[in-house]
Amino acid sequence: MAKIKAIRGMNDILPEQTPLWQYLEESTRSILSSYGYSEIRTPIVESTDLFCRSIGEVTDIVEKEMYTFDDRNGESLTLRPEGTASCVRACEEHGLIFNQVQRLWYTGPMFRYERPQKGRYRQFHQIGVETFGMVGPDIDTELLLLTARLWKKLGIDHAVTLQLNTLGSSEARAYYRDQLVAYLTDHVDQLDEDSKRRLTTNPLRILDSKNPQVQALLEGAPDFHACLDDESLKHFDQLKRNLESLGIPYEVNPRLVRGLDYYGRTVFEWVTDKLGAQGTVCAGGRYDGLVEQLGGRATPAVGFAMGAERLILLLEAEGSLPDRLKRQTDIFIAALGDAAEQKALSLAENLRDLVSWRLTLDCSGGSFKSKMKKADRSGARVALILGDSELEQGVVALKPLRTQDEQELVPFDKIAAVLSAEHRYFKE
Ligand code: ATP
Ligand code: MG
Repeated sequence: MAKIKAIRGMNDILPEQTPLWQYLEESTRSILSSYGYSEIRTPIVESTDLFCRSIGEVTDIVEKEMYTFDDRNGESLTLRPEGTASCVRACEEHGLIFNQVQRLWYTGPMFRYERPQKGRYRQFHQIGVETFGMVGPDIDTELLLLTARLWKKLGIDHAVTLQLNTLGSSEARAYYRDQLVAYLTDHVDQLDEDSKRRLTTNPLRILDSKNPQVQALLEGAPDFHACLDDESLKHFDQLKRNLESLGIPYEVNPRLVRGLDYYGRTVFEWVTDKLGAQGTVCAGGRYDGLVEQLGGRATPAVGFAMGAERLILLLEAEGSLPDRLKRQTDIFIAALGDAAEQKALSLAENLRDLVSWRLTLDCSGGSFKSKMKKADRSGARVALILGDSELEQGVVALKPLRTQDEQELVPFDKIAAVLSAEHRYFKE
């Protein structure tokens, strides 16, 4: 019978890869917690309306990327394509927004029907942050500081740069939209099909077209920033000054508009040139209008989402990983014979109480030689060997696997002390 395979664009994350994922998740979690952020977990499925109303009807996501289906009751449901809408929905539903300040984060799978390629999948993972109730550029700055801190911790700070823009107020955007449409309508013959369509549906999105001909045409377009409102420009100037004084380099990109409708004022992307076309590893911005748009009271909000798969790719290529990630275990216990195997179980339990090294007890039988091969493959740095003669003497043979040190016999009650003291065994 033919074997069933995973759905295209939806990846298994195999045991070899999960240490890297855990490292990314733990690093992020510890940094977010050090800034006072709390985790929120929401369902993977929501009412389709939630995404249509928040992300925008004429965006790539809603037009062509959503996994939407009717449940058995005929209600239209959608696998979440992003986390912000769900987070706002949950916070509103549980009264976490009105008159409060929130600093939240989440992580989990997102679903978009896109063409799978390196760094672009149909199920992918985001780690996202959303804040509510803070209006000033200081919170925008904080989000950029904590992401910069994460890049440093992961050792990928040299590989990413920050792109920054402001989209102004919704009135300013509407005013600019008219000017842009007037200009592009005069040159409509130079637009590609996608841009022609957007000219009537979502003209600002034309600004981030990747088509060189459209890009060239945009060189002559009216200046976005010249149309922006003073308040937004002031906010933007303060954000830039904050970043300068804190030593976070950035580049202003007036073409950066982002793919979702709910953004206004600050938008940003952390990009890398190491991953080809899928170069944005983290993207976000301010969405002061969204809470109201979803039925709540007007609330300032700003957040971002990182693409975990892209960060993992970058981490593998450019990052600095702790040594322990390269090995499955630290100590490998090999016992030979029934009595020794039985003793090994209790010895291992006892050691787990006393030392923090990872400890693997071989339970797969086989010869001494095959056990030593397994010990080597596991990446362990020390093997503890227990056979009939060791058992009789009340010792284990401690064999350093990665250093030139001699094998030594250690009495049962001294093993923990030796393993704690002899850190040289555990060096690379
Ligand atoms: P892109 O321009 O690459 O399509 P986007 O603007 O659609 O990205 P957002 O909705 O802002 O992306 O999502 C935030 C981050 O999530 C992206 O910067 C990226 O790192 C990641 N991401 C988005 N879509 C995918 C996908 N299909 N596969 C893997 N990662 C993704
Ligand atoms: Mg996209």
